[in-house]
Amino acid sequence: MSTHPKTITVYAVMGLTIAAGILAAGNISASGGTELSSETARMTSMIHWLGHDSFRIDGDGIVIYIDPYKITGGPKADLILITHDHKDHASPEDVAKIQGSDTVIVAASAAAEKFSGQIQTVKPGDKLNIKGIPIETVPAYNTNKFRSPGVPFHPPKSGYVGYILTVKGIRIYHAGDTDAIPEMKSVHCDVALLPVSGIYVMTAEEAASAAAMIHTKLAIPMHVGKGVGSLGDAERFKALSSVPAIILPME
Ligand SMILES: [Zn+2]
Repeated sequence: MSTHPKTITVYAVMGLTIAAGILAAGNISASGGTELSSETARMTSMIHWLGHDSFRIDGDGIVIYIDPYKITGGPKADLILITHDHKDHASPEDVAKIQGSDTVIVAASAAAEKFSGQIQTVKPGDKLNIKGIPIETVPAYNTNKFRSPGVPFHPPKSGYVGYILTVKGIRIYHAGDTDAIPEMKSVHCDVALLPVSGIYVMTAEEAASAAAMIHTKLAIPMHVGKGVGSLGDAERFKALSSVPAIILPME
């Protein structure tokens, strides 16, 4: 859980309208006098960015985490989604902070063996429903980021995933560690959480192209703020994106 107040500025792109009530409550504010629509405010109010690719999503009586990493704790998880086995995404010590006896962990096959408890393994292209939350998996892989010549950091054959989950009627796409890939053209969502740091994943420029490819109403940059990438990458993405983009406060 965060110790940061939610009064930290949320930067909004131009053209959105801010719900006055939200502003009045001091929950969210926009830069440069731009405004968030009430729908955008509703979507962002349930999505908590915990830094890097870590998110907590608060549904109706259900708490979902994605790739918890370097978190300080928080409400017990009903559901934890893990995109792949790299330590900044599949972190047993962080999962331990939020895992209870009823927690279900959904993990790409390569990551599943790092955890114990109720585990559901997935591969790209799966559709499942856990605890009333519809979940689809999308491939996540590199096309032009290489560990060594010819060896991508995230090879297509590794079965790494992104997730589309529907919470309170909102379709949220967490892309995982990926480049802009053709499969994104088939993604329909309300919010897209996209990596922007470069090196292992899309650069801000590539993520802006990806955002245009994905059918989404809103984009939120990630994979910055805890080691790899800087908030500057997120700012660059926001400036370049043709899709409305918001940088969430890091909680
Ligand atoms: Zn990775």
